[in-house]
Amino acid sequence: MNDHNSNPSEPFSEHFEVIVVGGGHAGCEAALTALRLGRHTALFSLNLDRIAWQPCNPAVGGPAKSQLVHEVDALGGVIGRLADATAVQKRVLNASRGPAVWALRAQTDKRAYRREMLALLHASEGLALREAMVTDLIVAGDPADGDARVVGVRTFFGSSYRADAVVLTTGTFLGGRIWVGDRSMAAGRAGEQPAEGLTEALQRLGFRMERLKTGTPARVDRRTVALDRLEAQPSDAADRFFSFDPQTWHSGEQMDCHITRTTEATHRLIRENLHRTPIYGGFIDSRGPRYCPSIEDKIVRFADKDSHQIFLEPEGRDTPELYIQGFSTGLPESLQLELLRTLPGLEQCVMLRPAYAVDYDMLPATQLWPSLMTRRVRGLFTAGQLNGTTGYEEAAAQGLVAGLNAARHVVGDEPVHFAREGSYIGTMIDDLVTKDLQEPYRVLTSRSEYRLVLRGDNADRRLTPLGRDLGLIDDRRWQLFERKQEAIAAERRRLDTVRLRAGDPAAAAVEALTGAAVKGSILLADLLRRPGFHADDLVRLGLTPAALPREVREGAEIDVKYSGYLARQEEQIRRVQDQGQRPIPAGIVYTEITTLSREARERLERQRPGTLGLASRLPGVSPADVTALLLWLEQRERRLTALAPAAADR
Ligand SMILES: Cc1cc2nc3c(=O)[nH]c(=O)nc-3n(C[C@H](O)[C@H](O)[C@H](O)COP(=O)(O)OP(=O)(O)OC[C@H]3O[C@@H](n4cnc5c(N)ncnc54)[C@H](O)[C@@H]3O)c2cc1C
Repeated sequence: MNDHNSNPSEPFSEHFEVIVVGGGHAGCEAALTALRLGRHTALFSLNLDRIAWQPCNPAVGGPAKSQLVHEVDALGGVIGRLADATAVQKRVLNASRGPAVWALRAQTDKRAYRREMLALLHASEGLALREAMVTDLIVAGDPADGDARVVGVRTFFGSSYRADAVVLTTGTFLGGRIWVGDRSMAAGRAGEQPAEGLTEALQRLGFRMERLKTGTPARVDRRTVALDRLEAQPSDAADRFFSFDPQTWHSGEQMDCHITRTTEATHRLIRENLHRTPIYGGFIDSRGPRYCPSIEDKIVRFADKDSHQIFLEPEGRDTPELYIQGFSTGLPESLQLELLRTLPGLEQCVMLRPAYAVDYDMLPATQLWPSLMTRRVRGLFTAGQLNGTTGYEEAAAQGLVAGLNAARHVVGDEPVHFAREGSYIGTMIDDLVTKDLQEPYRVLTSRSEYRLVLRGDNADRRLTPLGRDLGLIDDRRWQLFERKQEAIAAERRRLDTVRLRAGDPAAAAVEALTGAAVKGSILLADLLRRPGFHADDLVRLGLTPAALPREVREGAEIDVKYSGYLARQEEQIRRVQDQGQRPIPAGIVYTEITTLSREARERLERQRPGTLGLASRLPGVSPADVTALLLWLEQRERRLTALAPAAADR
């Protein structure tokens, strides 16, 4: 056996079963998961004071991301609990649409979040924390022969540590370079050094590395903003939680966000200075996320819009910093203040930190198994931004999976693969390991063909039993889970058997609410199926005990309301699977198919696949897009068939 770079006489400072490199959102979740499974675990990070730092908006959740947070929580992870504990503003997004797309979003206190995570790590008995820069991987065997396995890591200052599994979660730090306008410096993110050595170490092992970029807007001093002139957006969901564990529920003092808008002056200043931004000026060409565009991208791409909404979001309770959501820019520092001052309310603002972009090395995840172990080196796992994703939630979810599988690898257990149909975790990993990325990957509801099933409210039902089997869920949590499921089942039985009679005083109120009279009698379940009628209405009408916990009555309501949709969704998925060979006629104008995501429209227009199966394998075309395309093709066929006899008659 050719050894890649391991030396049998190399002295090791310490031996761990699992070493996690990186103390970001992926790394913390990975280390805590491996520890929970009983592995002797160490977490190495460049700066222990920046554990679980939120370098962009300190917000957790939102569409699809909140589902990921609920899923991680359902498997015993910590991101949900910490977001609940440190939230300064909580809202339910898409509240007027169905529960499948409801999304809890928390603005968190950035420093409190970091403190809580560090405290949790310190309190986790047996977890070793080490501040160090890991610069090399020690690997026995040769990846070219297919027998390589990781045996440890080396650090910048010359120590070597032995490990049976290593999880890399290095975020934006490999080869990191930050940009403000055309000025740049080597940095993992503002104020932090980049990581040296690991990119080259991975390349020597035969891994393909690519570059991506992301950006963050300026921060301003709230004391210099006329917030009283702006629309306030208060917290409206402080009593809703990411975690399924009521013992961790806590709502501290809440704060408002505020809304302003870009003006004609904003747009003019940007148009006049586009050539001074890294992308339009051509200084960097790495790809950034299209769904999180800079303000100049928005103004160029949506040239017909004369104003864009901008949110001013607090970064925490003990700081005056406001995050200017929707306003990231690549303009030079000297222009950024002028630009900020074009926004109503910010005419006198003081900029505390400029907007900047970062570009960094990432490891395309098509080089991984679905367990997140690399295909070339056994025992080496990667997770988070390093795999091409963006976002704390995506990182945390991958961290949990990598930590779980690293822990299992060490003791020779089979890896756990999360299925697309069972979770957004599975959807994301399936996308990552099977499709080449065109830009940083963010989880979106449109990426899942199973999105009616993969809701936040049922994440515990979908995943906690698996978590229990894997050893991630303790007895207390399991009992809580069982009690809740029994309560939901009992409520469903009640809804399926109790009837409201026409003579009941509540029947008149039902008619007023839903516009339909109760004739004879009606099952409470059928009442809930009426559009616009909810479990809360049953409580108001005295038809459900007010003491029934909200998560129980909502769980039962969603089950009842969704049963029909779910059957339809399963039927659609089956049809798509059967129709891989269905030809797609030439000449289709994809940009006109509004049910496709923008990314899919662009990609299909460019590639023009011949069959539905080929379309489904294109990066950027999600299974939800394939379903939408099939429905559109079927409708088109029906339209043409209907037209055909008429044409013949003429
Ligand atoms: C400028 C900027 C803008 C962003 N904008 C957005 C956005 O708009 N939307 C969004 O969702 N997300 C955004 N993010 C991304 C978000 O911060 C990340 O997705 C998330 O933090 C990734 O988590 P992670 O654990 O993978 O990596 P990180 O949180 O980056 O953590 C990496 C950790 O690894 C450590 N580390 C790195 N290399 C080494 C090494 N060799 N040895 C030891 N330790 C090491 C670092 O110290 C750090 O603790 C942005 C990030 C930045 C920097």
